[in-house]
Amino acid sequence: MRAVTFQSPGVVSVEERPEPELLDGEDAIVRVDVSGVCGSDLHIYHGRVQIEPGFTIGHEYVGTVLAVGDAVTRVAVGDRVLGCFMTACGTCFFCRRGLYHRCEHSRTFGHGAALGSLQGTQADMTLVPHANLVLRRVPDGLSDDVALFAGDVMGTGFHAVVESELRPGDVAAVLGLGPVGLCAVQAARAVGAARVLAIDSVPERLAVAESLGGEPVHLEEQDVRQVVRDATEGRGVDVCIDAVGDPKVLDSAIRLTRACGNIQCVGVYAERAEVHMGLFWLKTLTLRGGQANVIGHIDRVLALLSAGVLDPSALVTHHMKLDEAPEAYAVFDRREALKIVLTP
Ligand code: NAD
Ligand code: ZN
Ligand code: ZN
Repeated sequence: MRAVTFQSPGVVSVEERPEPELLDGEDAIVRVDVSGVCGSDLHIYHGRVQIEPGFTIGHEYVGTVLAVGDAVTRVAVGDRVLGCFMTACGTCFFCRRGLYHRCEHSRTFGHGAALGSLQGTQADMTLVPHANLVLRRVPDGLSDDVALFAGDVMGTGFHAVVESELRPGDVAAVLGLGPVGLCAVQAARAVGAARVLAIDSVPERLAVAESLGGEPVHLEEQDVRQVVRDATEGRGVDVCIDAVGDPKVLDSAIRLTRACGNIQCVGVYAERAEVHMGLFWLKTLTLRGGQANVIGHIDRVLALLSAGVLDPSALVTHHMKLDEAPEAYAVFDRREALKIVLTP
């Protein structure tokens, strides 16, 4: 089968790989009908997140079940399914508390040995461990393109909003309008934010944010702090979502959030970051970060997608063939695409 593999920073290839085989009773094998290229893949592409050369990348997928192990009961051969970007065992200390994102045995698709040596999903087929927990049937009427968002990007945007403890009537700010930030904008409105200030410097992304219910704020052409003051009687936003993963962004989040407000970092941090801790302390802020509990939220996210309350279809800007993956990564790296959907 074909698989998209990381070679070196800036270089991915499409290579032949052996077809996956069932290794455990809880495994499923899925024929990948669509896979996505994601901002997290870009960290690998840039060499910021390091993986072994030749490893298959990708972690967003919708497909058809080809085979299941004896213990798989929730999906069956022939089912159209979507999957979460990471696996969880379902039985460890954290899983028993529903904290699947911190599962002691979790593995992330397409992230090399550091995250569990689970080959990625930008391939003709993929092996899915713990399929009862990781896979869901795609609800009738939901397109592949939209279902693709449930297991990663919308799951992450939704997680950011839920974990930020945003309340109906709050004013939120979302820093960074990549797919994750845009999904957070839509999810924030869906759970009742009165206003969502959507901050970035890319005009096309600001326009999409507006179409999803956000109020676009241009990072460079507008005075972001003044816009926030004007929107909140000078207090600062109730919740601030960092959907970038950059110390500068975390520092602005500390400045833009009101006293006793919440900051949620869903953007990935892989290094030390320096922030104004004094300001953080004086303002009595709460900061949370980490991977999204996509498995924990997946059923609610799917229900909201199915009902059309959440609809990320405006984010799909490109359809490309798996064989065109090198070009897809180059396009994505140039920020010309929001979501690239790869098909066989
Ligand atoms: P992306 O790279 O497409 O988008 C980032 C956006 O941030 C860009 O539009 C960029 O213009 C903007 N930006 C850069 N600096 C900024 C600044 N100072 N202020 C405001 N905006 C700024 O990324 P994405 O796919 O949307 O993902 C966002 C982040 O979320 C990435 O770090 C990704 O790895 C991470 N992520 C985390 C999880 C999780 O489980 N926590 C899951 C998926 C993705
Ligand atoms: Zn992703
Ligand atoms: Zn576990």
